[in-house]
Amino acid sequence: MSGLEVDLVLPNGKPIQLSIGLFINNEFVRGSSVEKLTSIDPANEESIASVEIATETDVDRAVDAARAAFNNPAWRDLTPEDRAQLLHRAADLCEKHLDELFALQAWDVGKPYQSSKAGEGAHFLGCLRYFAGWADKLTGKSFPVSKDKFGYSIRQPVGVCGAITPWNYPLTQSAWKLGPALATGNVIILKPSEHSPLAALYLAKLFKEAGYPPGVVQVLNGYGNRTGEAIASHLGVDKIAFTGSTATGKRVLRSAAVNMKRVSIEAGGKTAFIVFDDADLEQAAKWAKEGGFGNSGQICNANSRVLVQEGVQDKFINLFSDIAQATTVGLPFDDATTQGPQASKMQYDKVLGYIHSANQQGAKLVTGGKPYTCDAANGRGYFIEPTIYTNVTPDMTIFREEVFGPVIAVSTFKTEDEAVALANDSTYGLAAVVFSENLKKAHRVAARLQTGTVWINESNGTDYKLPFGGVKQSGLGRELGESALDGYTEEQIIHVNLGVQL
Ligand code: NAD
Repeated sequence: MSGLEVDLVLPNGKPIQLSIGLFINNEFVRGSSVEKLTSIDPANEESIASVEIATETDVDRAVDAARAAFNNPAWRDLTPEDRAQLLHRAADLCEKHLDELFALQAWDVGKPYQSSKAGEGAHFLGCLRYFAGWADKLTGKSFPVSKDKFGYSIRQPVGVCGAITPWNYPLTQSAWKLGPALATGNVIILKPSEHSPLAALYLAKLFKEAGYPPGVVQVLNGYGNRTGEAIASHLGVDKIAFTGSTATGKRVLRSAAVNMKRVSIEAGGKTAFIVFDDADLEQAAKWAKEGGFGNSGQICNANSRVLVQEGVQDKFINLFSDIAQATTVGLPFDDATTQGPQASKMQYDKVLGYIHSANQQGAKLVTGGKPYTCDAANGRGYFIEPTIYTNVTPDMTIFREEVFGPVIAVSTFKTEDEAVALANDSTYGLAAVVFSENLKKAHRVAARLQTGTVWINESNGTDYKLPFGGVKQSGLGRELGESALDGYTEEQIIHVNLGVQL
């Protein structure tokens, strides 16, 4: 016991003890700052718990522990099978405590508890297990050079990794980084967003219980401009895996340059959802709702721009708006809820600002467009109605900027070329969607879209078996799938002289 435990009753009724310290060297410890970080329940604006935050001194301490762990035979000399087994054990413990993990997360950021535990929970566990499966499958290459010489490559872990995550998928984003980092023999310091500090603390406890040696997995809460910056610019950190906004991603790149860290960036997006006139419009409307309003629109690849071919726009917009209006906005722990509040006051204000700009700039409101009064929350909380605008033109702010809320901008196009040009008219390049029953056309269009991912006749279906990442200002590198292993390993080339004499 560290004296840093708080007793909480989760909104799903489960009592838990949560350690609110910094997790360094397998212990929960106090930070060197008197300042604390308070998590606010976005459904009722009440505080949940206050946690320790890491200063530069605390980051130094964690990096020293990480370096020692990386060089410790208890970790360094584990066989690939041992690393796989450890990760499987961690995943099994997470599954056993899925209620606690997903209730903490839902409480912290306002996600519908039951549906996020089912959908995101399966992805989170699957991702850890998928990467556990890679631990004993890392191979190198051999290079024949001449009869007297050959070369071969081996894959070495990068070393001390810093993982900086956002608040929209705190657990999933952690798994995307913990999985490949640990499967390949790295050590990792996880810094959750200041808007979602809680679930990672519980995760830390479970990874310790799984048997990870001290210093291999550490969690430091804190603000981005201090704790995040200290990790990104630290000379003892070898790699940063960052997920967050494009603006912060650029700052992280600059900080990481100090020692030429390996960097992966998963940043913002402005996904275009193209509906051709030969699409199954009912399916398109359902998927547009799923991919646009899911997680209260707080998804990096949310299909926030819908481009509809002229001729079917009225029919599509009617279907889409009916489905949007059927959304049950409500309390995260009410099983009927399909859309919870925005995750924070800051985010709520930002989204309402975009709604204001759409009204000012002449977009036509079809549905929504205002805060939602949640009676069950006594009128409190950061709820916003699912909102659709039509007549959106490319010069409007809601066409160009990432709203990160339940606001969808609909524009129309005449030809295939125009659809491609509109979709590509963005500084972002994370994802795009094509709806058409003509698969030849859908594939042709997909290949012309400047994005890391294209979904044909579906939306937003991230799968940990497939690589994910952005082009343009949506990111650098790929997470998930086999490609993720490249970001956590260095290819080392060994030259072997079999007989060349000097
Ligand atoms: P954010 O950029 O504000 O913060 C992300 C993380 O960076 C947080 O942990 C924050 O504390 C930290 N941070 C902030 N300033 C920092 C600095 N100077 N140095 C180091 N770290 C710093 O983003 P957010 O609001 O938490 O998340 C929303 C954004 O994340 C959206 O733009 C969304 O598109 C993006 N996102 C992208 C993906 C993807 O896979 N491409 C996935 C989820 C979210």
